[in-house]
Amino acid sequence: MARSRNAAPGTTPSGSLPLSEFLESKHSRAMASFAVRDLATMIRFRPRRYLTPVPLRSLRDVREGDEMSAIVTVESVRDRRMRRQAGSILEAVVSDGRDTLTLTFFLPRQHMVDWHCSRLTPGTTIHVRGVAGYHRGVPQLTHPEYDEVDDTPEARERAQRPLPVYPLKKKIKQSTMREATEKGLEYLHTLQSPIPEAVIAARGLLPPAEAARALHYPREIQDAHAGQRHFAYEEALVLQTIFAQRRAQDAATPAPALTAEGPLQGALAAQLPFPLTDGQQGVISQIHELVARDHPTSVLLQGDVGSGKTVVALMAMLRAVDSGHQAALLAPTEVLAEQHHRTITTLLGDLAAAGQLHAHPDATRVRLLTGSQRTSARRETMLDATSGEAGIIIGTHALLTESVEFASLGLVVIDEQHRFGVDHRRRLRAKGPGGMSPHVVVMTATPIPRTAALTAVGDLDVLTLRERPGMRAGVQSFVVLESNMPWMQRMWERAAEEIAAGRQVFVVCPHIEETVTDPPPGEDPSPPPRGVMETAERLSRVPQLAGARIGILHGRLGAEEKQQVMAQMNAGDLDILVATTVIEVGVDIPNASVMMILDAECFGVSQLHQLRGRVGRGEHPGIAFLVSRLDAEHEAAERLRQIAGAADGFALAELDLQRRGAGDLVGTEQSGLASALAFLDVLTHRDLIEMAREDARAIIAEDPALTDHRVLASFVEQRLRAAEAEDVERS
Ligand code: ADP
Ligand code: MG
Repeated sequence: MARSRNAAPGTTPSGSLPLSEFLESKHSRAMASFAVRDLATMIRFRPRRYLTPVPLRSLRDVREGDEMSAIVTVESVRDRRMRRQAGSILEAVVSDGRDTLTLTFFLPRQHMVDWHCSRLTPGTTIHVRGVAGYHRGVPQLTHPEYDEVDDTPEARERAQRPLPVYPLKKKIKQSTMREATEKGLEYLHTLQSPIPEAVIAARGLLPPAEAARALHYPREIQDAHAGQRHFAYEEALVLQTIFAQRRAQDAATPAPALTAEGPLQGALAAQLPFPLTDGQQGVISQIHELVARDHPTSVLLQGDVGSGKTVVALMAMLRAVDSGHQAALLAPTEVLAEQHHRTITTLLGDLAAAGQLHAHPDATRVRLLTGSQRTSARRETMLDATSGEAGIIIGTHALLTESVEFASLGLVVIDEQHRFGVDHRRRLRAKGPGGMSPHVVVMTATPIPRTAALTAVGDLDVLTLRERPGMRAGVQSFVVLESNMPWMQRMWERAAEEIAAGRQVFVVCPHIEETVTDPPPGEDPSPPPRGVMETAERLSRVPQLAGARIGILHGRLGAEEKQQVMAQMNAGDLDILVATTVIEVGVDIPNASVMMILDAECFGVSQLHQLRGRVGRGEHPGIAFLVSRLDAEHEAAERLRQIAGAADGFALAELDLQRRGAGDLVGTEQSGLASALAFLDVLTHRDLIEMAREDARAIIAEDPALTDHRVLASFVEQRLRAAEAEDVERS
């Protein structure tokens, strides 16, 4: 859903003139219906677009089909009932002093007639716009737009300007919005800008009052763009100031310096079943550099599914352990936490066996903490965390809120998959030893372009893994429309061939069960989205799949059942796993080679990408089938074909960005801070974002508490409050 790009209530600072103090109540009520109640907010209420001015003509020069406008005086008005249908025809004859023109309106209701008559009284001068036509040799405009004006040079000049078009609500007129805003322009001297004057000059921006006028009362369309640019920069500056402040806070906060180079790191490197790629090595040494500082660092590690983030994270965690501290790994679900625990204990082998006979002399302990664990297991984990026996503790995000006491937490790795852990990071303050802050690494599989990252998570250092060693075989994606029987047959055959070769198949459905919802009156019930239960049952009757061992997995199963199913799948005791998107996040079954996504159009782009990334992880090439009941011509079917064709997460991110607009991408999926941006667009304002970042850093370096930048400080405060309100609303 496209988010509304306007009226971010509460994003301008208090102290701005209330509209009710200078607007007529009609005007302030219209604005209030958009939650706009003060001048600063009204000035930032963004016109949706501009009407291009139509050339002013003298009536003599009117040609049929011309889009024209003219300043004219009303000579006479009459209305008559239409003969063949209800309603009236209203005709006004207007003149420019030499020639005349007829304005014609077909009006179904009497009140409309009255309304026009009240505005078109003879003698009134109007600016009228429309497309010229001829009726019985007389030039006329049908349903023209018009406004009352004075016939002055100013009015003529004004008639040549682009007109802002504001979002409207029922019963609110465009002219009301324009009048209100224009009235506001008379009070610009009361406004304060968060942008320092020196910056305005240095960056070649319009000064604030000029920008406001250019936005709402432009002479040329270029003026409007320059006005928008000012306010886009303003939004960028406020965001970047928040990020700069956070960085400054970090720089003033102590953290344990993680500097030890061994022994666990070297021991793991020596026993890995594969050599690290250059990309992984590069990222690991960048992380090492960052965590070696005695201030908390926040890193965003982005890499497509299969790019091998886990082992990078493990190396970083071992650096913490080698340095005499602990590391925590947080996963978004219990299934994932368990899987990380399994992967990491396997990779570490003897290195994770501290306390056992076969342990490596430098071994540590890796503990898991989940809500569904038995109390005794939980207690053991807690004890080992507190005593420091456990070097690595793995759990869900609940680990942060639970009363787990760490002996010396030096590093937290957050495996977010889709969302950024921007907010979690705040909670980690003072979780480190002696009130210090641990270092944080956030991992995400949704890569976003640099400027989008700067806008969404500008206070993080972004590191990127580009290769995909874990997708050695890779995935090929196909769209299969269910109406095409031969394709469906072929799909079942391919699945059967893979199963016969010892491979495994995922089948993903949008729902657990299929429920028919009541259709709107008069419409046929549409078939419900596929459910796991019904699909598993149907698959058992597909002839090609006869004898296949089918399991199911979904969120309503208990934790133990889920674990059992995953264990069966891991052990190869199931051929087909029918599941909801619980398997979307990071499930790693290298033997799985087929992914079928039913009703694929129900899923988002990054979800589909995550899902297909579940196969082709091992040595066997993966096949993803995006299955749909849509018609081939449907727009969503075309989208599925584009997704199938996109090579990796980076190509998809671009695709997504173009389709939805960056504001939406950043707004809904990433960070609350960057949502509700009215002017800033991460695609078109790359330069502004970079400038604002530089300027914000300079401002904060000189004036960390913003004591000499009161206006900027209050904008920052408002933005933070609005983001918080949004977070609360979303959760
Ligand atoms: P993701 O970035 O999606 O979390 P993982 O860390 O799960 O990716 O890695 C995916 C697969 O790739 C795993 O099976 C992992 O063991 C394997 N892998 C990681 N690094 C390498 C490498 N350098 N060479 C070969 N395989 C690797
Ligand atoms: Mg992963």
